[in-house]
Amino acid sequence: MKDPMSTIRKVYIASNGCNRRLLDAERLERYFRANGWLITDSPKNADYKLFFASALNRVRIDESFDIISRLAGFPGETIVLGCLMEVAPYEFSQRWDGKAIAVKDMDAIDQVFSDFSVKYRDIPLSNTPMPSRNIYKTVSPSEFIKQRLSLAISPARLGDKVYSYFNREKKENYQSTFIWVSAGCPNKCSFCAERKVVGDLVSRPMNDIVNEYRKLLEAGKRSFEFIGDDVGSYGLDTGTHLPDLISRLSEADKGYQVNWVIKHLHPKFVIKYQKDLIQVAKDGKVKEIICCFQSGSNRLLELMNRQHTIEQVIDTLTDIRKVLPEIKLATNIIVGFPTETEEEFDQTLQVFDKVYFDRVHMIKYYDAEGSDSHTLEPKVSGEAIKARIARAKHFLKKRNIYFQTRD
Ligand code: SF4
Repeated sequence: MKDPMSTIRKVYIASNGCNRRLLDAERLERYFRANGWLITDSPKNADYKLFFASALNRVRIDESFDIISRLAGFPGETIVLGCLMEVAPYEFSQRWDGKAIAVKDMDAIDQVFSDFSVKYRDIPLSNTPMPSRNIYKTVSPSEFIKQRLSLAISPARLGDKVYSYFNREKKENYQSTFIWVSAGCPNKCSFCAERKVVGDLVSRPMNDIVNEYRKLLEAGKRSFEFIGDDVGSYGLDTGTHLPDLISRLSEADKGYQVNWVIKHLHPKFVIKYQKDLIQVAKDGKVKEIICCFQSGSNRLLELMNRQHTIEQVIDTLTDIRKVLPEIKLATNIIVGFPTETEEEFDQTLQVFDKVYFDRVHMIKYYDAEGSDSHTLEPKVSGEAIKARIARAKHFLKKRNIYFQTRD
């Protein structure tokens, strides 16, 4: 007799990307389940293999191509999703000629699975990221060894691991429930290729967000992260703005003890909405604001098209700190943006003497093919970037500011 399981179709879904893509992946799993498919954790026996390919930096891009070629070696069709095709469009076109769907076009998945009765757009947005599958099953042994060895033999990276282990309580470590407020980004930061991947800003109707929040509160959830490609721009496309949403959410959670983390908040919106943020944070629910100032040099901020000055950021965050001394402030800085001088990098470090940050993420500039800054010259050499990061680590350690670095 034929095994009834053999007729059920199976899909393998994986991602090496960020939380936003893991949220998309979880939604995709529910889409396949709603249409009677099984989710398998091995690409070997899947009818389809869907992979959200990260393009965060060169290391991730290499890993993504490696995973794609491994997946393509298994039976069944492979579809590449996510960011890679827009961040590195030329390289992608040279190395992959199969199906691909970028983040902003995810609804097009219904064209591939046109016989599905439940459509992707009818699957509710996700509040919980898909658990990371062990994608190393799909990384080739040589890539796996290369990655592990690079950790083991680089003294700087080994040092980072040790530092991170002994400071692990300072790491971002929230068990948040995610609530999407918008997708897409209207800003044009020159270093960012991601905005081309996520498309134009589309804000969710405020009532939908508030109703979802109420339901999650009733279900016992208390820690929330409001998520979007740029949360600050919420409502700019619908004639409302973030403070309106914050005040509606605050009405909805009266009587509940809740924690909020506000991430992906462009400094220009922290500056613009400073009073409203302080007001809502005063009752203690906002635990952390992540406001990425990227550089302490006004010349570079202009080249990055960030639309604010460093003085505005310092003044705003100093005011927030005065009123809310307990709030955690975290930031990202880019090291080695094209044309950055040693003096300009010093200006970035000096910001940490003016505003106390609890955490800083140092990101080596990645010259993404799809970014506007790709054409800016001169580039800063890899050696100079390494030396600046080493200098920054020493500087931050002395000030007891927790740091992480990203290639
Ligand atoms: S705010 Fe800037 S860095 Fe963030 S997604 Fe938009 S363009 Fe990219």
